[in-house]
Amino acid sequence: MKILVTGGAGYIGSHTCVELLNEGHEVTIVDNLCNSNMEAVNRIEEITGKEVAFYKVDIRDREKMGQIFNENDVDAVIHFAGLKAVGESCEIPLEYYINNISGTLVMLDIMKEHGVKKIVFSSSATVYGCPETVPVKEDFPLSVTNPYGRTKLMLEEILQDVYKSDNEWNVILLRYFNPIGAHQSGRIGEDPNGIPNNLLPYITKVAIGELPQLNVFGDDYPTEDGTCIRDYIHVVDLARGHVKAIENMKNGGVEIYNLGTGKGYSVLEVIKNFEEASGKKVPYKIADRRQGDVAVIYGDPSKAKKELGWEAQYGIKEMCRDSWNWQKNNPNGYKK
Ligand code: NAD
Ligand code: UDP
Repeated sequence: MKILVTGGAGYIGSHTCVELLNEGHEVTIVDNLCNSNMEAVNRIEEITGKEVAFYKVDIRDREKMGQIFNENDVDAVIHFAGLKAVGESCEIPLEYYINNISGTLVMLDIMKEHGVKKIVFSSSATVYGCPETVPVKEDFPLSVTNPYGRTKLMLEEILQDVYKSDNEWNVILLRYFNPIGAHQSGRIGEDPNGIPNNLLPYITKVAIGELPQLNVFGDDYPTEDGTCIRDYIHVVDLARGHVKAIENMKNGGVEIYNLGTGKGYSVLEVIKNFEEASGKKVPYKIADRRQGDVAVIYGDPSKAKKELGWEAQYGIKEMCRDSWNWQKNNPNGYKK
């Protein structure tokens, strides 16, 4: 298939492009590089030995997006482009609504104009809010607590409305748990700007000596060791989930899938696994809870297994190994 990947230079997008190309699909990337680097695109080509068409374009730019659809025969869109930092979204909510919501609306409108009605959308487990029980299933109640999460929930609803208005649309909403790890080649990985917000990139920066120690946000949660539990998933597994989703699209419909491993690890367990996988010590101190953190969340990925034939192959050891391999080989990320 000919797939347009928005945000394809980003962390999850770049890994997905590699898997799509490896499966014989053609890839066109649209990315404004606001949170990524052209070097990621070069490395996608290097890893796969295949070419991708790349457009440095903001998805809100209707005219340029129209040109891209005129120039390329697009069968389906995988839509990653968006801003993703929860804390930042509370500080600059309008930027999040304008970028994530307006960008998606422009893109959907252009898709409609060109009769492209297949889309896979990056949603997030954040739409489950603070679940009453775990593992969470796709039909659990939804709630959000911050503007970032609200953009995901709103876009899920907008996409459902689009389908209701025209049953030829194929919409797949993928709710990701916590992607970590990197491609085994060590050539692409997560490259956050500045001090990372997320656990794994913070740990790797401590391990490489760039940051002095990790703050563990709270050890008084109702879990065995008191630290929060999350469902970490290897980014390559996540990327393969997109390939399965696109290849198993039905003829019209909206489908929702959890992409996680179904297993939860506490922050302290992640530190221990990382230390074992990297041979590096990760000094940490217990800090206050971070506002908005949920104590325990992990997903039930059985629907994706049953309907898409997808399940995560990598465990926490491989995730930590590959995060470290990427950091070690690229101490400055994609920057030279
Ligand atoms: P990322 O920031 O690495 O990738 C997003 C890409 O989109 C970047 O390359 C950025 O430059 C691009 N982009 C942003 N706004 C754009 C615009 N208006 N026009 C064109 N390009 C634009 O993030 P990621 O971790 O790869 O996440 C990809 C998607 O998955 C996002 O939608 C994110 O919200 C979602 N998601 C991520 C996680 C996670 O933990 N990483 C979890 C759940 C969902
Ligand atoms: N976390 C932490 N220190 C950090 C970053 C994260 O203790 O510097 C914890 C955080 O409280 C959460 C887990 O690690 O329990 C995963 O956090 P992350 O931000 O990576 O993902 P999310 O909050 O989206 O699940």
